[in-house]
Amino acid sequence: MPELPEVETTRLCLAPLLVGQRLAEVEIRAPKLRQATPAASLLQGLTVQALERRAKYILAHLDDGSTLLIHLGMSGRFSVFPHQGVAQTPTRLSKYPKPPLAKHDHAIFTTDLAELRYNDPRRFGLLLKINTADLATHPLLKNLGPEPLSPAFTPKVFYNALQGKTTAIKPTLMNPTVVVGVGNIYASESLFLAGINPATPSKNIILAQCTRLHAAVVKVLEHALTLGGSTLRDYQQPTGEAGHFQDEFRVYDRAGQLCLTCGTPIQQMVQAQRSTYWCPSCQPLKPTRGRA
Ligand SMILES: [Zn+2]
Repeated sequence: MPELPEVETTRLCLAPLLVGQRLAEVEIRAPKLRQATPAASLLQGLTVQALERRAKYILAHLDDGSTLLIHLGMSGRFSVFPHQGVAQTPTRLSKYPKPPLAKHDHAIFTTDLAELRYNDPRRFGLLLKINTADLATHPLLKNLGPEPLSPAFTPKVFYNALQGKTTAIKPTLMNPTVVVGVGNIYASESLFLAGINPATPSKNIILAQCTRLHAAVVKVLEHALTLGGSTLRDYQQPTGEAGHFQDEFRVYDRAGQLCLTCGTPIQQMVQAQRSTYWCPSCQPLKPTRGRA
């Protein structure tokens, strides 16, 4: 499932191809993904003014006062192909030849620079056109916590968000009202880097641990971003290239393999229906420190 580094990698690739460009042709081939998709006629001819990201949403601001909200869901991805006759574009495009349209190509956007295809085999993605003025109060966006790579996410803000929470720190780290965009892979990796047991009740995390975990989240996400994210099953960068952070996993998907730091076998457990990976030696469960 694409997480923050994969979504941001996608945005960075699409932005030079979309911003300032008119959507000369739009073809919507799926009437519904997670929700009903907008009709092509509501998008065709509009110009993209900016391409932002909030949590795992890509927001394409359009010149009619609306925003196309895009979410990659479980298996969504964009592919970008050169537009016939355009010799040079301001970004990299797919180095692979453009294939015929496939079953799960649900939307095709053509600008003067490129053809952008949205493909999503599992159809949990989202293409939603909403008024830009309504973004802040939209049900999908209004309760989101701070961006992990923004100045709004500080150790103190993070610490305050943990107070009173009895849930384990791993699912709390994946709770988008606490901090957005930290999915299953990056939660396990961050907790390992910070030396914190994933089962620790959130309210028992002391400020020093919280500061370490904050730094670990930022470091892991920034590192993943520089490597183009992680490619496990479906995800590819829009150029068709894989991400490379999966080669850097210290604990994720390494159950039974030896910890790269101490040699102890990596453990796996299920928390909130998701697999957690951790090293019992590097991430011991500390006794409660008597805090309420
Ligand atoms: Zn270890």
